[in-house]
Amino acid sequence: MSDFRIGTKCVQSGYRPGNGEPREIPIIQSTTFRYETSEDMGKLFDLEASGYFYTRLQNPTNDMVAAKICDMEGGTAAMLTSSGQAANFFATFNVAENGSHIISSSSIYGGTFNLFNVTMRKMGIDFTFVSPDCTPEELEAAFRPNTKAVFGETIANPALTVFDFEKFAKAAHAHGVPLIVDNTFATPVNCRPFEWGADIVTHSTTKYMDGHGSAVGGAIVDSGHFDWMADRDKFPGLCTPDESYHGITYAEKFGKEGAFITKATAQLMRDFGSIQAPQNAFLLNIGLESLEVRMKRHCENALAVAGFLESDDRISWVSYPGLEGDRYYDLARKYMPNGTCGVVSFGIKGGRPAAEKFMKGLKIAAIETHVADARTCCLHPASSTHRQLTDAELAACGISPDLVRFSCGLEDAADLIDDIRQALDTI
Ligand SMILES: *Cc1c(COP(=O)(O)O)cnc(C)c1O
Repeated sequence: MSDFRIGTKCVQSGYRPGNGEPREIPIIQSTTFRYETSEDMGKLFDLEASGYFYTRLQNPTNDMVAAKICDMEGGTAAMLTSSGQAANFFATFNVAENGSHIISSSSIYGGTFNLFNVTMRKMGIDFTFVSPDCTPEELEAAFRPNTKAVFGETIANPALTVFDFEKFAKAAHAHGVPLIVDNTFATPVNCRPFEWGADIVTHSTTKYMDGHGSAVGGAIVDSGHFDWMADRDKFPGLCTPDESYHGITYAEKFGKEGAFITKATAQLMRDFGSIQAPQNAFLLNIGLESLEVRMKRHCENALAVAGFLESDDRISWVSYPGLEGDRYYDLARKYMPNGTCGVVSFGIKGGRPAAEKFMKGLKIAAIETHVADARTCCLHPASSTHRQLTDAELAACGISPDLVRFSCGLEDAADLIDDIRQALDTI
């Protein structure tokens, strides 16, 4: 890990060209790599030497960008994946198997909830969902002998709840299991979960990290803190020989710093092939270079928009963890003193029909399912993504019929506020 501050890491980490080498990260657009002897290649296959042989497992462009994200989070090893979904699947499946159990915050991204609650259950992995606001006793009661990990999101998409790292880390470590945190919304610019006890961090790089709606991608970073060998029986995948990989015991051979990512690459990337395209990694790197500058602006804009909404009597409620008086304001101040994210959610008086009119009236904010983009976008779930649900069913997912999710882009805040004001005038 370098000693640079986060804004410098965003620009400088991961790639340093040698004398006469390209200034920009080279896109290694090659599926395969050439070797002088079979022995040379054999060493790579045996994980005796590091290097590249096939882009389904690893590619140099991806690794340069992963190294940057690793440095930004303060980790020891990292990998890119084809999407945030793949990152969360790999991060959890890497410590679990048929018969395992994982505890997750109930306040998580809908795609992740479905991955856990439907698809991974089909693989024989059980989940218990706990409220992010649960008491330590409620959290304690969720653990079982076969629990392998605890999962949460720094700032949940779309509920905007803030994860109490210390509470969850304490419980996870008391039970000898890692805390895995999806840090997509905060980004390492605003929060570094490893400093608060998380062991593994995941990202949908599709959001702020890319920041321009150009490339779907994901990342996994290991803190290097978790001692897998402390309870070998709990993590057989890391602590006993992998017969599918020449009998290697990852935790023995690669230690705390490297075992998790090496296993996820050698085993899961080999078998599932969810590699990020090197072209996308290149685009992601361009996004990362300006991440610190952009996050400041996203947060400033969101705070201005949230403040305006709070003062307008056509708005029934506002949720933004950076707004004083918000339910999560104190937790946000503690874990994210420099800012949270650019997404604000709010309710419009008059419920579903008023919200529908409001959406039609917007001129700058585009209607999209996306968030965390340079351009402001907006979603009314009750009339779009969740339109098949009744109000009662919506309430069960924590979405009210009047809820609007507003992702503040990089435009001038005054124009965003003017746009919201004129759209409210049309109701
Ligand atoms: C979007 C998102 C994901 C899924 O990422 P994709 O890149 O769309 O696969 C996971 N977690 C969070 C918090 C997200 O916002």
